[in-house]
Amino acid sequence: MSRLCLILFGPPGSGKGTQAKLLRQSLAVPHISTGDMLRERMEHLDELGSQVAEMLRSGGLVPDETVNVMVEDRIAQPDCGKGFILDGYPRTVNQAAILSGLLESHNVAATLVYLKVDYNVIMARLAGRRQCPACGTLFSHSAGAPTGPEVCDHDGAQLVIREDDRQEVVAERLKAYHRQTAPVLEYFKSAGVPVWEVDGASPEGPQGIARRVRSLIEEKLVS
Ligand code: AMP
Repeated sequence: MSRLCLILFGPPGSGKGTQAKLLRQSLAVPHISTGDMLRERMEHLDELGSQVAEMLRSGGLVPDETVNVMVEDRIAQPDCGKGFILDGYPRTVNQAAILSGLLESHNVAATLVYLKVDYNVIMARLAGRRQCPACGTLFSHSAGAPTGPEVCDHDGAQLVIREDDRQEVVAERLKAYHRQTAPVLEYFKSAGVPVWEVDGASPEGPQGIARRVRSLIEEKLVS
């Protein structure tokens, strides 16, 4: 079986994280979320930690060099030997070019899944999103709703609005997506990377979407 780099692509709130979590189980490869890595990095009380925290609070993108180095180190880890799922990376054409070089040197072929979701659905999803401060699980009113109105299913902690899901930050994140991230799709298409468009708001729900992505990948791996 060839090594797999599955790039989950789409705007904030398109379900990349949810899909990555479902697919990492069925494909048995690690889920690499640059957003999660950066949220972890900002807990460090050093200069880089505070720069990252400031960028995340503003809704803008962290500089390419910072993210590229993090990803380069991460995909060199032994658990990425069979492949990996990228969630939230690459987010600029520069990151896409760096990733292409890395994949070439590791002899890994990329496949991109574009989770296409209507703008109004994204806004509604992000407005309804809550996070558990204890375990980090994200909940929304439309999917995976917690049992109580505002508590986590897993540990009963009071859910909170993630700092970068505040309305004014969401507007900046969507601007960054349209300006800097959307062109990444064209970059990969022109580079001949297979791009599969999937309805990220399909009535089949997250499990159905994950099943469809998985069968596309299996077809690709055996062909
Ligand atoms: P996410 O959880 O993927 O929505 O990412 C949360 C925030 O982390 C984004 O709004 C950016 O500020 C930052 N971020 C995540 N991934 C990247 C990336 N590949 N390049 C630059 N900034 C990123």
